[in-house]
Amino acid sequence: PGLKGKLGLNVFKESGKSHIRIREGKEKHPQLAKAVLVCPAGLYSQNSKGEVTLSSDGCLECGTCLIACGRELLDWEYPEGGAGVQFRFG
Ligand code: SF4
Repeated sequence: PGLKGKLGLNVFKESGKSHIRIREGKEKHPQLAKAVLVCPAGLYSQNSKGEVTLSSDGCLECGTCLIACGRELLDWEYPEGGAGVQFRFG
């Protein structure tokens, strides 16, 4: 099996639908800088203006960014009513 097989079924979404978004107007919120640090897939980046951007290609759906930043900053749409993703706290 290739890499894809090892990673399992749900790791990479191939639908291309972005389900995590930075809420409008929150791009410069200092708390968002945490997401840049914690995202294991390195999907957040901060530009020289202090704005954080997110590319959701390759998102692992680990939920870390949501835990770090909260729903006031991030809008997370569950693909299937929340059934698909398990959060691990701690
Ligand atoms: Fe990164 Fe995980 Fe957030 Fe996806 S859910 S953007 S992989 S921290």
